[in-house]
Amino acid sequence: MDTDKKEQTIESLIKKINTYDPQADIELVQLAYDYAAEAHKGQTRKSGEPYIIHPLAAAHFLADMHIDPVIVVATLLHDVPEDTDRSLDEIEKNFGSEVSSLVRGITKLGKLKYRGVERYIENLRKMFIAMAEDVRVMIIKFADRIHNLTTLGALPPQKRYRIALESLEIYAPIANRLGMDEIKGQLEDLSFEFVYPKEYERIKKIRDEKLQGKEQYFARIMDITKDELNKADIHPISIHGRNKRLYSLYTKLLKKDNDPKNIYDILAIRIIVNTVAECYATLGILHNIWKPFKGRIKDYISQPKPNGYQSLHTTVFGEGGEPIEFQIRTLDMHENAEFGIAAHWHYDERGSRMPTKDIKWAKELAEIQKEILTKLSDLEEIKVDFLQTRIFVFTPKGDVIDLPEGATTIDFAYHIHSEIGNKCIGAIVNEKMVSLDTELNNGDVVEITTDKNRKSPSPDWLNIAKTQTAKIHIRNALKKNGRGSLSGFLRSVLPKKNK
Ligand code: MN
Repeated sequence: MDTDKKEQTIESLIKKINTYDPQADIELVQLAYDYAAEAHKGQTRKSGEPYIIHPLAAAHFLADMHIDPVIVVATLLHDVPEDTDRSLDEIEKNFGSEVSSLVRGITKLGKLKYRGVERYIENLRKMFIAMAEDVRVMIIKFADRIHNLTTLGALPPQKRYRIALESLEIYAPIANRLGMDEIKGQLEDLSFEFVYPKEYERIKKIRDEKLQGKEQYFARIMDITKDELNKADIHPISIHGRNKRLYSLYTKLLKKDNDPKNIYDILAIRIIVNTVAECYATLGILHNIWKPFKGRIKDYISQPKPNGYQSLHTTVFGEGGEPIEFQIRTLDMHENAEFGIAAHWHYDERGSRMPTKDIKWAKELAEIQKEILTKLSDLEEIKVDFLQTRIFVFTPKGDVIDLPEGATTIDFAYHIHSEIGNKCIGAIVNEKMVSLDTELNNGDVVEITTDKNRKSPSPDWLNIAKTQTAKIHIRNALKKNGRGSLSGFLRSVLPKKNK
């Protein structure tokens, strides 16, 4: 990735995009840049530089990952509605509904601040809704955050720490669950230095010492590997070394009694081959050259990790008994490992992959939330039940409604609109008719049937509804119709008082 700021111009951005998507709407990219530059005119970053370098750097970051140009365009515009006097409507008029809906998603997230637990939960909730609506928004948010982390130096120490901590505790775990290893790694390593500066220095020293003078050794191992594979008529797409990232080394060390001797994968050799069969054949060939380490062979191809990661891992005793880790995978597995869910919008040599709006994955969100909330509760010593988990359900049009766990179709109806609630007579969940007291699950698609002649909700609904919003609306409607509540009952039997 080119991190040289001088290289990060709009011209070089367009050139970059052209290399992976010759059909890209280059005019739109240029237009987005001109528009954003004009809108942010006169604004500066904390470093004193013109503001536009920030959206431009975030756009370059995604273009380096060969991400869909539409997302890159939205990235150029991502701070315009929040920080300038240009409106989202204007952006929609100029750039169309797809770009503007991405920018709207980012704008809704707002500037997340890490202040106090309640505020934090509210932010988390916003983020999950944005993700459920369109996960591409998160891709932009990550690019935004990574650039902000690389320029933290310009901020006061307290703010630096807060942003780095938030990146480490919220953003990185989300990137991890979305399988975006490259982004997760960058978020962690950039934050690590600011959150645990002493540990950062220590770990860096450990890594450097372990790697010192090993280059030739690893080069030889890679040569031998290549020769032996070629003999078996296996021609890998690539064989390369990869350093373990610092934060991941840090967390691993904590698990391994803090003893660097227990870490075998500070440098691993990655082999990318053409087929799954070649993965297993390669594993066999390696074990034939070098003795494998007992209990360190992992088959994530037949048993992928929860985030979808696939590879074969093995540690062998190399020349002189030195342990070496190998990771063997196909190109598809490699791209999924690096880009995760973003692979849907990543252009590879074989052409683009069309974005698919897959709402099934919303079910994953619940797991991510639980993971982060549990971590948070350990951290802040607060009770998890305060941090009630939210579920995300969809209207048939794909709009997202977020509700607390245990919410029913009645809650859903009232969260769309009080009149939908009051006139509700039935519900269809995932194309099946259900009773109104049915509890909803994450990712459900819910349709409410209404009857315009219905006069008022049923008092029973007060027992079915779980959310305050629904209960308040039900009570109000009952009162208005003089039903169900004690005051309504009294009003109906007592003589009217004159005020
Ligand atoms: Mn930004």
